[in-house]
Amino acid sequence: MPIDEAMRRRLLQAIVETISRHADELTAIDAAQGDGDHGLNMNRGFAAVMGKADAIVAKPLPDAMQEVGRTLVMTVGGASGAIFGTAFMAAGKSLPENPSRADAAAAMDAAVSAVRARGKAEFGHKTMLDVLGPVAKALHGSESDIAAVANASAEATAGMQAVRGRASFLGERSVGAMDAGARSAALIIAAICSTLEGTP
Ligand code: ADP
Ligand code: MG
Repeated sequence: MPIDEAMRRRLLQAIVETISRHADELTAIDAAQGDGDHGLNMNRGFAAVMGKADAIVAKPLPDAMQEVGRTLVMTVGGASGAIFGTAFMAAGKSLPENPSRADAAAAMDAAVSAVRARGKAEFGHKTMLDVLGPVAKALHGSESDIAAVANASAEATAGMQAVRGRASFLGERSVGAMDAGARSAALIIAAICSTLEGTP
């Protein structure tokens, strides 16, 4: 699918807007299980990305995504900056300029591998990986509603006990509420899907 500069700008704006609109909710989720800064962290990172939007969207998609990732790593203090940044960098490195669905699936696999290595996290550890993994699997198949898969996967983290991240300090008490990073990952994926919808 053609991801020209106008489309890259729309994608970036959609991601930044959804994070900003849900920042309070993300912070509240993190407050229940972590330290209550996830919305602030994500908002700070994506505001920095938006500050360089012109330079970012002028680059071809793989370079633009890697620049988003580097900016998140540099500007977000929390664990999520390093980990989301790593995911964007790995996916960007893997993507061609005009990716097919198979390319998108391969890029999501690359993001999953990078997050597993960076965060020493596995599936079921109640992190954003529990959204990225099911989305990668869905992209390899014929599922048409990827955003629904992402949302359902984020919801499903509520039933998990955290093994990574600050929520793991709660042990069994981490069961019952969604993971903040998983919710962010689902928001970002849903924003990408709705922006690309209608694009052949
Ligand atoms: P911090 O934990 O430093 O306060 P945030 O609150 O911004 O950072 O982000 C927390 C989110 O980061 C978690 O909800 C989880 O999804 C993700 N996360 C934390 N640690 C890890 C890890 N080791 N591997 C994968 N994801 C992680
Ligand atoms: Mg936090």
